[in-house]
Amino acid sequence: MSLLLDGIGLLVTNDTGLGEAALGVLRDAALVCEGGRVAWVGSAATAPAADRRIDAGGRCVIPGFVDSHTHLVFAGDRAEEFAARMAGRPYSAGGIANTVAATRAASDVELAGHAAKLATEALQAGTTTIEVKSGYGLTVADEERSLRVAATLTGETTFLGAHVVPPEYAGRPDDYVTLVAGEMLDACAPHAKWADVFCDRGAFDADQARTVLQAARAHGLGLRVHANQLAPGPGVRLAVDLGAASADHCTHLSDDDVQALVGSATVVTLLPGAEFSTGSAYPDARRLLDAGITVALASDCNPGSSYTTNLPFCIAVAVREMGLTPEEALWSATAGGARALRRDDIGRLSQGARADAVILDAPTYVHLAYRPGVPLVHIVLRGAETVIING
Ligand SMILES: [Zn+2]
Repeated sequence: MSLLLDGIGLLVTNDTGLGEAALGVLRDAALVCEGGRVAWVGSAATAPAADRRIDAGGRCVIPGFVDSHTHLVFAGDRAEEFAARMAGRPYSAGGIANTVAATRAASDVELAGHAAKLATEALQAGTTTIEVKSGYGLTVADEERSLRVAATLTGETTFLGAHVVPPEYAGRPDDYVTLVAGEMLDACAPHAKWADVFCDRGAFDADQARTVLQAARAHGLGLRVHANQLAPGPGVRLAVDLGAASADHCTHLSDDDVQALVGSATVVTLLPGAEFSTGSAYPDARRLLDAGITVALASDCNPGSSYTTNLPFCIAVAVREMGLTPEEALWSATAGGARALRRDDIGRLSQGARADAVILDAPTYVHLAYRPGVPLVHIVLRGAETVIING
C-alpha cells in the first residue's frame, strides 16, 4: 500500500542533491512512500497518486530523529541525587552503583515494562530509531537480560558491561575487565550489535577499555566509546585508533584529540542533556564543527545524568548553549545520528530511505529551538506507518 504525504510547507530531506543548503530543503513538497520506503520526493504539484494520503496542511516535515545514545534499560530513579546536585554537589561516575542495585533487584517484567515505556516516550517526541545500551546489570546474567530487553525495542543494541566497576569488584578492576571481555561478552554478544566502554576518570583506563573493545571487535561487534566526559583523557584517541563509530560526550578535548578526529571514521556524539542535568560546562561544539568533524546529537537518556528521551529538548539546548545553528542541530539529531550508527537508510527523506518522518506542528524546524519545551510533534511515521498522532 502506497502513501502520499503532501501539503508539506517545508520538507527537510537531508539530501543536498534534492534541495537547498545542508538540509536539502524543499518547499510546497510531497513524498510518496511504498513498502515502508521513500519512493518519490518532489513538488506537491507534480506528485503521483497513491493508495492513501496524508495532508500535512502546510506544516514542516523532517526525518525522524535518530537517537544514537541511550541507556533505557534500568530500574529506579535518582531524583534525590539530582536535587542534591542542583544544590551544589558535583556529578561523579559513582552514582551509577545506585541504579545497578535497583536494576539487579528488578524483575524481568519490571525491567522490560519500564524500558518500553521510555521507548514509547521517545517515539512520541519523534525518535524513530533508538540505540539502547546495557550497563546497569554488570553481572553476566544481568547484562544478558538487559540486552534481551533492549533487543525487543531496537536492532541498535549496545553491550556496556564496562560502564563502571561494580561494588563486588571494588579494588579489583582488572579482574572485572577479565570478566567483561570474557564470559560476559560471550553471553552478551549474540544480543548486541555494538560494544561501548566508559573510558574516563572514575571508570576505566585506556588499557582496560582497549582490552574490552578489542575482545568485542573479535566477536564481530561495532565499537563506541564514552570518552572525555568528566576529564581530559585517552578515550577519544582510543576511539579513533580502534575505528570506533562514535566517541560520545567529548566534553574535555585537547588539540590532539581534535586533530585525531579530523578525517577519522569516528563521529562525535554530543549529549547536551548530560551537561544540562549535571550543571557541567558544555563541550565546544563550534570547535568540532569548524574543524569539519561530523557531530551527532543524542539524548543519553539515563536516570543519573540525563533523564530525558526528548530530542527536541536536546536540539534547543544545543542551539542555545552549544552554539549550533538550528540547521546544524537538526542535521546532527537526524543524519548525524545515522552516521554515528553507520546507517545510510535513515536520517534522510530521499529515495530509498526508510519512510521515517515527523510532521511538526510548525511552519519550520527552527521552532524546535525557538519554542523550547513545547510539544511540536504532530504525527510520527515509521516505515510509512502512522505510529503517533498528537492532537
Ligand atoms: Zn551514556
